[in-house]
Amino acid sequence: MKRVLVTGGAGFLGSHLCSRLLQEGKDVLCVDNLFTGRKENIRPMMGHPHFEFIRHDVAQPFYAEADQVYVLACPASPPHYQYNPIKTAKTSVFGAIHMLGMAKRVKARILLASTSEVYGDPLVHPQPESYRGNVNTTGIRSCYDEGKRMAETLFFDYHRQHGVDIRVVRIFNTYGPRMNPQDGRVVSNFIVQALKNEDLTVYGSGQQTRSFCYVDDLIEGMVRMMECEGFMGPVNLGNPAEFTMLELAELVIRLTGSRSKIVHLPLPADDPVQRKPVIRLAEERLAWVPSVTLEQGLLQTIEYFKSVV
Ligand code: NAD
Ligand code: UDP
Repeated sequence: MKRVLVTGGAGFLGSHLCSRLLQEGKDVLCVDNLFTGRKENIRPMMGHPHFEFIRHDVAQPFYAEADQVYVLACPASPPHYQYNPIKTAKTSVFGAIHMLGMAKRVKARILLASTSEVYGDPLVHPQPESYRGNVNTTGIRSCYDEGKRMAETLFFDYHRQHGVDIRVVRIFNTYGPRMNPQDGRVVSNFIVQALKNEDLTVYGSGQQTRSFCYVDDLIEGMVRMMECEGFMGPVNLGNPAEFTMLELAELVIRLTGSRSKIVHLPLPADDPVQRKPVIRLAEERLAWVPSVTLEQGLLQTIEYFKSVV
């Protein structure tokens, strides 16, 4: 039986990943400090004989045995990663160093959950993996963007210097059940606001775009990348269907049947204008394409939020 360590395993994506790995018959060790993760996310797995939870901060060294390591620990929502930006940088950079050191020692394969934010406010559209990005090094998003960029660098240096068996995926905006209602990301904000018939808060003009991937599609891509032989990445994982935030707000209002109106609030600094992945590499190397449309995924997510807000 393969032993799999998941850092950030009590978070939104991490908890879906842990469930999926248990279903596959893996022995799962979930490591999380519960900063943005929640015990509710992993409660259904708690009694499982092949599931273990350890409360630990990955900015501190960690010793365990594993065959595979998924590195997800890091707050992903802008308000949360900007809450304590120095801690965010430490989580990404020290977290990567500690897990890479462990993978080196126990000869585990290790996968980094990197992000489309490594492209910053992209000047190339859509974004292929070969694009090197347009990132502000001194802005309010830099702790996250540069933290992830440094983590990618460390992964490739541990591979070149120590032969560590690495995988790097760049995740584009992903949504679905188990997002924290207070998370602050756009999909959860809009759905919670619509269900309460409150105003939907569109930042700026709402003409900025994102491409939204449903969580089940994303987890499938991550697992395929971990299992893939002879390909380290980086590889984009995301749904190339692109929407403006106004389109998203209107869709959420329609699907919830809400009486909410749209209001405009100031646009946060460095908010990327457009984002859409080129996923040819994932198609070719992983035979992966997302299959859930935004409307289908939102309906699932709305059902989830109805049960928690
Ligand atoms: P999330 O905030 O729900 O999950 C992050 C998890 O990491 C939480 O459980 C949190 O408690 C934990 N964590 C944070 N700091 C930690 C620390 N110092 N030690 C131990 N645990 C810590 O966010 P998510 O959406 O599930 O994102 C998971 C990963 O995927 C993150 O690394 C994120 O950067 C990456 N990612 C997510 C998206 C997305 O759209 N969801 C997009 C790009 C990249
Ligand atoms: N956004 C918005 N209203 C909200 C939350 C976010 O209009 O209540 C916008 C935000 O300015 C950005 C987009 O939605 O342009 C996606 O934001 P999110 O925080 O979900 O993720 P990002 O891709 O910016 O990291």
